[in-house]
Amino acid sequence: MYKVFKFGGASVKDAPSIKNVSAILTRFSGQKIIVVVSAMGKTTNKLEEIVAAYLAQDQKTFVGLVDELQAYHLEIAAGLFPDKHFHIFELLDDIFTELRAQIQRKPSDNHAFVYDQIVSLGELLSSRIVNAYLLDQGFNSQWLDARSIIRTDNKYQEGQVDWTKTEALCQHYILPLLETHDILMTQGFIGHTSEGFTTTLGREGSDYSAGILAYCCAAKDVTIWKDVPGMLNADPKYFSDTQLLEHISFKEAIELSYYGASVIHPKTVQPLQQKDIPLYVKSFLDPEASGTKISSSALHDSKIPSFIVKKEQLLLTISSKDFSFIAEKHLSDIFETLAHLQIPINIMQNSALNFSILVDRKKVKMEALNAAFVAKYSIRYNEGLELVTIRHYDQHTIDQMTTGKEIILEQRTRNTARFVLRYLE
Ligand code: ASP
Ligand code: MG
Repeated sequence: MYKVFKFGGASVKDAPSIKNVSAILTRFSGQKIIVVVSAMGKTTNKLEEIVAAYLAQDQKTFVGLVDELQAYHLEIAAGLFPDKHFHIFELLDDIFTELRAQIQRKPSDNHAFVYDQIVSLGELLSSRIVNAYLLDQGFNSQWLDARSIIRTDNKYQEGQVDWTKTEALCQHYILPLLETHDILMTQGFIGHTSEGFTTTLGREGSDYSAGILAYCCAAKDVTIWKDVPGMLNADPKYFSDTQLLEHISFKEAIELSYYGASVIHPKTVQPLQQKDIPLYVKSFLDPEASGTKISSSALHDSKIPSFIVKKEQLLLTISSKDFSFIAEKHLSDIFETLAHLQIPINIMQNSALNFSILVDRKKVKMEALNAAFVAKYSIRYNEGLELVTIRHYDQHTIDQMTTGKEIILEQRTRNTARFVLRYLE
């Protein structure tokens, strides 16, 4: 039986962190583990800047950013491999030489395609370095290119998984490799199209890769190693006394991540739930601690209220110009436009003449939005709001979250209360 471990960017951000990953794996010696790694530290953000510089054909910025990224990876490698002639240095050199050569080529008009070909390098670099270190430490580990396993359509930047193909590829390649190796080291976040081009699965998609691989290999369980003790009932960035959710159901985990709990990527749980594969969220700083177990059991779900805060929200109030009711015809038109603009809706509400939607300010390109609606609708904007979701609420927790703030909109179901709030001056 195989395990799947996922190590995110923070767990491989420098040489000591990678040594810690190796120490964690030592604790599981004798077990077969598929290890999924993200890009190191903030590499993906840096690669996004590199893509922007390339598309702008800004050679100077491009070279400067690539220099920084290379220095960062070299420093990590130097902290792991004192021997400068170690083969990994040559490999890193090849990857960066290839990246540098890119600026000489005219960018394709398909920016999402360009993005995926370049941004995927972060995971490739990271998995190469970590695997070299594990081999050096005596692990029986094999590097595997996730692009030969995870098949997607050609929706670049948001590849949609072809489950049948991916499952067949997993069975064909991964399972035999696990017969002869203890560890398979692969990348999160990336896949490939049927033509062999690289795709990515969306930002923070490495958790999802772990879910995909676990599903397709019918793994025993999945562990996501994080810098927090597990899934908490609130984000410790905003709340001082958080509680660990020791055991929650798949359904509850999907609800929490849907509302914005950022500990696990929202798509991760669904494939695991399908095959009843438990998911553990554990701290890489305290690997002994039990963390959170997410499984089919719902026994413990409703004990602790959870709080999810989304900042920088924008409320759009859309009304028809001719004062006609906002009815089904308008709504399908509005949804289609929003889907086309790729603006996800966080909460919505309609009245006779208005349709209000709350969206992440950062995901909205104002000009495109205005242009799309201007002919038929008028739009009002309400900025600087936050969306607070309370799972398993009571009056006390509602008061705690809303006192001193203006409630712009609220919605309640049996288990969940949601408030769009503005801070009072
Ligand atoms: N490296 C990618 C990102 O930062 C994927 C991931 O970390 O999950 O978005
Ligand atoms: Mg990450």
